Amino acid sequence: MDVISVDNYIGSKDDDFTAAFQAAARALNNYDFVFVHVKPTDSMSHDGDARGKAMIIERVDAGIRRFLEEAPSDTYIFITCDHATPITVKDHTGDPVPFMAWGPDVMKDDVAQFSERACAKGFWSRIRGGIDVMNIIANYLGTLEKFGE
Ligand SMILES: [Zn+2]
Repeated sequence: MDVISVDNYIGSKDDDFTAAFQAAARALNNYDFVFVHVKPTDSMSHDGDARGKAMIIERVDAGIRRFLEEAPSDTYIFITCDHATPITVKDHTGDPVPFMAWGPDVMKDDVAQFSERACAKGFWSRIRGGIDVMNIIANYLGTLEKFGE
């Protein structure tokens, strides 16, 4: 994977998420897969800063909205976390994390929010992050070996 540097996107609470997601949308002209890592939500959780974490999530949400405006219409989006960092614990835990898949032929479930509790009631509630996520992505991108005859 290549690293795409974005001005004012260094993993801090002041990151420019809109610029990062715009760069991701542009990168899809040259790449089949783009990964955007968001660090400050974890940092805010380590600090126990619920308000700061909420503000970061709102800014990330705005960045994703911009991404959707600029990305090709056949783009898939997968959103998840590599671990939970509850504000109350201020550290990583083994709690389940939400996973979202969105794209042209992704089957919809009834989940209308992206949160640990809401996503636990959806199609993806039983996946194992470190084992299943890349296979799910590869399946939608058509790069996974066909299952069955
Ligand atoms: Zn952490």
